[in-house]
Amino acid sequence: MLSGLMQRLFGSRQPEPGPPPGWRVPVLCYHSWTMETTTYQGNDHVALETDLACLAARGYAVLPLPMLVEVLRGERPGSELAGRKLVGLSFDDGRDHDYRDLPGADGALVPSMHTILSRARIEVLGVGPMAVSFVLASAHARRELDVTCGSGRGEWEDDWWAPCAEGRVLGIGNHGWDHVHDTLETVRQRDNLKGSFFHVDTFEDAEGQIAEAQAEIDRLCAGRALPLFAYPYGHVPPYVRDEYFPRHGARAGVRAAFGTGGASVSADSPLWDIPRFVCGWHWHDPEEFMALLDSVERGER
Ligand SMILES: [Zn+2]
Repeated sequence: MLSGLMQRLFGSRQPEPGPPPGWRVPVLCYHSWTMETTTYQGNDHVALETDLACLAARGYAVLPLPMLVEVLRGERPGSELAGRKLVGLSFDDGRDHDYRDLPGADGALVPSMHTILSRARIEVLGVGPMAVSFVLASAHARRELDVTCGSGRGEWEDDWWAPCAEGRVLGIGNHGWDHVHDTLETVRQRDNLKGSFFHVDTFEDAEGQIAEAQAEIDRLCAGRALPLFAYPYGHVPPYVRDEYFPRHGARAGVRAAFGTGGASVSADSPLWDIPRFVCGWHWHDPEEFMALLDSVERGER
């Protein structure tokens, strides 16, 4: 308040870069493959639509993740965002249900995350994108995963990435080469160690899972991939966070990385492990979501 008054009295002082004091932005993560029921619990499509209505009713606006990263990196004055209730939105794994309306288990059409975002009545700051879909680079891995943990109907493709990335609703980010997923025959890790991203802890493995994944996703997005990474399983290897990204992030085309730390983004959030809250883990129903927002607004989370 006082600094605003001083600014008006003494003229054009440059706004301070970086997050405003007391800044707290919850970044939410959903999985479009969670659709085994038709109710909030067990269906992230229902959860997203319900949560967006709740956020709008509480006066929240959507802060696009590229803008959030610019503020955290000190490239954009946070003062323009001070006093706003803001939320970030993301989806992990990049199943086709992020973008395409497809039949669910009962045969009824399930609106995609893209469809739900497009029709939501909530303010979005800047030019978007409203949310980020973090996808897996390897087509070979996605086709195998479609059989081992998907529908087996070819619903883990990449032909939608380029048109999706061109719009303002859903940008495309990097979720690694193959998720080092435990159901795959071979993964891009030197000892073929699966099921944990913590084993990606050397330069060569990080290059494959991050830099080469970024280049492949960017190629499949016709040059429009976002420079954002989300750690598979939310596992943040200290080597990647503390050495690889600070030294090689810029060359790899990545400007920030998201984990699943279960906290709001604040001025102190590490650029290479920006925390998110995950639907079905950090909250399970509309009541818990309201309680989560209450605690964020009280500055507790
Ligand atoms: Zn994932």
